[in-house]
Amino acid sequence: MRIGIYPGSFDPITNGHVDLIKRGAKLVDKLYLVLGTNIGKQCLFTLEERISQIEQVVAGMDQVEVKVCENQLTVDFAKSVDASVILRGLRTAADFEYELTMAMTNAKLNPEIETVFLTADPAHLYVSSSTVKEIAKFSGDVSKFVPECVVDALNAKFVDQK
Ligand code: ADP
Repeated sequence: MRIGIYPGSFDPITNGHVDLIKRGAKLVDKLYLVLGTNIGKQCLFTLEERISQIEQVVAGMDQVEVKVCENQLTVDFAKSVDASVILRGLRTAADFEYELTMAMTNAKLNPEIETVFLTADPAHLYVSSSTVKEIAKFSGDVSKFVPECVVDALNAKFVDQK
């Protein structure tokens, strides 16, 4: 049984992430979406809010399950769930630099775990959680970029802040 993890902030989950999940799930028997701590990012949504959004989005995808990894290295988490693959997405050259460093570091920490990159679908190439948050903050329409439950969550979050 091949197990993969797809770690990310998912703040919030976008159509780009969803596309990657669907394609990545075809490569493994089980795919864990892993919500971790990215110390370089301050999240808009709480961990509980992100878990709830992701669970709604992956409902019906039998192979996919949501997990949380806090205060633990991604490779150590992968090992703890018997995963041999870390799935990540590549959009532009800007992603590449960051992702390459991380993949090489993780390979050094645990050579048994491979990072596998899927290139973004051209339809979602420009979709990022940060852009979506910026659009929502200024009352723009985010329905083309995120699943429906996230549209509502984003609107609610920024209504609260106004
Ligand atoms: P992190 O904080 O770990 O970078 P993100 O949620 O921003 O978490 O991204 C998780 C992964 O998903 C990264 O590998 C990122 O490149 C990828 N990703 C994000 N948006 C897209 C997209 N639109 N298409 C393909 N991959 C994406």
